[in-house]
Amino acid sequence: MTARILDGKALAERVRNDIAARTAALAQRGVQPCLAVIVVGVNPASAVYVRNKVAACEAAGIRSLRFDYAADASCDEVFARIAALNADASVHGILVQLPLPPQFDEQAVLEAIALEKDVDGFHAENVGRLSQGQECFIPCTPHGVMKMFEAEGVPLQGAEAVVIGRSNIVGKPMAMLLTNAGATVTVCHSKTRDLAAHTRRADIVVAAVGRPRFVTADMVKPGAVVIDVGINRIESGPEAGKLCGDVDFASVAEVASLVTPVPGGVGPMTITMLLENTLEAAARAARKRG
Ligand code: NDP
Repeated sequence: MTARILDGKALAERVRNDIAARTAALAQRGVQPCLAVIVVGVNPASAVYVRNKVAACEAAGIRSLRFDYAADASCDEVFARIAALNADASVHGILVQLPLPPQFDEQAVLEAIALEKDVDGFHAENVGRLSQGQECFIPCTPHGVMKMFEAEGVPLQGAEAVVIGRSNIVGKPMAMLLTNAGATVTVCHSKTRDLAAHTRRADIVVAAVGRPRFVTADMVKPGAVVIDVGINRIESGPEAGKLCGDVDFASVAEVASLVTPVPGGVGPMTITMLLENTLEAAARAARKRG
């Protein structure tokens, strides 16, 4: 079998066009969606992500504000900025780029963001609402994966799904979303015994491990849908410097029915869902205003 390749870039473009149209319609009603991004210190990987997020906002007609702080910034000044943005009715989404320097308690920073502006969906109350299937902001990466399932018509109800990874930003919310959608979900991690025994019976595998080409063809059931969240830079050898995912794409594409590439798979959808969440935050604010 040779898998179909799910082109995340093309899907992201379609969704972003739709977001741009809805943003324009909201702006016509007097509400211009606006995302504020707070960056502390200089982290090369984060710098690329932040640039891409800001550019994507602009392309969709979403206003963006950027606040940069030195790596030795005090917690007080960052908390003061968050408080000011919380109080600013023209700002609809607030994102603090992670990781933060060691003087910060990341969870405390995330909890300082007003719930209705928490477009990353990392606030503990948002996470609780997600687990209860209530209205909330869904963390962007798993949100993007769900959009991919929807676009491809992947049946989730009753499906056996295995999520590899249990991080707060990807693995756990992914598992919750799949559970809410009616899948039977197994969450695997570094302490899992015989990982392949789990993945081999899965109709859907979502890999969020952070290890290059970790999921190989022998771990995948023929016909499974394999979603690769990982973004890894190969450190040595002839491919040094290249990006690859957590899935051994070449071999897995021989057994799976649908697989996402890296780059060009989940990555573009993550930023797209940040735009979606920001637009949603603005739309909710507009509804509240009446
Ligand atoms: P974390 O490092 O926070 O989590 C990795 C998870 O993988 C942990 O739960 C860990 O288990 C598990 N794990 C590690 N080694 C093994 C192993 N040998 N067997 C089974 N499980 C293992 O990473 P993130 O969730 O933040 O990110 C995962 C990947 O996704 C990274 O490559 C990251 O760059 C990428 N990413 C991509 C995004 C995108 O937009 N495409 C967005 C966010 C992340 P344990 O908990 O036991 O340590």
